[in-house]
Amino acid sequence: MQSMPEVGHVSVSAQDASLIDGLLAGNRRDLAKAITLVESTRAEHRQRARKLLEAVLPHAGCSLRIGISGVPGVGKSTFIEALGMFLIEGGHRVAVLAVDPSSSVTGGSILGDKTRMGLLWQRPEAFIRPSPASGSLGGVAEHTREAILLCEAAGYDIIIVETVGVGQSETAVAGMTDAFVLLMLPNAGDELQAIKKGIMELADLVVFNKADIDPTAAQLAATQMRSALSMLRPASAHWQPPVLTLSATKKDGLAEFWQVIETFRCALTTSGEFEARRRRQALEWMWQQIDSGLRSHFRGHPGVKSALAKLSVAVEAGTTTPAAAARHLLDLANRES
Ligand code: GDP
Repeated sequence: MQSMPEVGHVSVSAQDASLIDGLLAGNRRDLAKAITLVESTRAEHRQRARKLLEAVLPHAGCSLRIGISGVPGVGKSTFIEALGMFLIEGGHRVAVLAVDPSSSVTGGSILGDKTRMGLLWQRPEAFIRPSPASGSLGGVAEHTREAILLCEAAGYDIIIVETVGVGQSETAVAGMTDAFVLLMLPNAGDELQAIKKGIMELADLVVFNKADIDPTAAQLAATQMRSALSMLRPASAHWQPPVLTLSATKKDGLAEFWQVIETFRCALTTSGEFEARRRRQALEWMWQQIDSGLRSHFRGHPGVKSALAKLSVAVEAGTTTPAAAARHLLDLANRES
């Protein structure tokens, strides 16, 4: 029997071995293909994706992962493009990924298409990937986590994960990045919304964009935000989130922004929190996988499938308690199918 090629003790097909070689060499086409593979829901693709990820894992991890969130229109793509170009000038390689839960509803992606960030798309040092267009937020987030590892293995040292300020996507993105940046508008009244939704607690840095329109209003918003933040518990015990103002279109404040990110990285690395966060995120990821695996095993179990509809009706009608129905279904799922 012909033996399978091995990449770092993982046996893969010849086709995947060459894909991995290309990816590790920084080939963008191979990186895109690998991400498509990890986004696929076909069982055969999932298996190939798992091996591929295992093979490249030793080459991943060496990047700074930055999450950027903000409502549509706040200037995320303008800011990310300007920041990306600034970082490329500084010798970095930048990957931009997106988590857009609305794309799984509409079937299209509003983040990361080629009409946005046109200049960055043209740079060989940049890689931009739209949000996976199908699946639940959990599925989209999982694929983005995997895409982060693939981008790192392909040599990107700055990974930006963009998300719109809707739903639970901020929590998901904060859970897969090292620094979480909240982009806001002065005068938008977003502050209260963000505080109410608990997003403020996730922020390592708050940025008011479009400061060129009304610099005084931007400064005032920043001052109010600083005092609001001082009353909240920060995401890290070693870092009080700063508030900056900038103009993405005028590229004003980009160097200051990057300086703050560098200081943040240094503070968290020195305190050990940087690595601790990554370890915590890896464990959370494992548990999410376990939870979703158990859930799909449960829903796919023939005994559960045949009893579920009847029991759901009984729970709705109040003829059985939710607890008794759940117990019965869990017992069924534990039996051999
Ligand atoms: P996104 O939906 O968050 O990605 O926002 P966009 O980057 O597409 O920006 C929305 C609009 O705001 C566009 O017309 C941008 O040109 C504009 N914009 C973005 N940043 C700034 C800025 O710093 N100043 C001004 N005046 N306009 C900006």
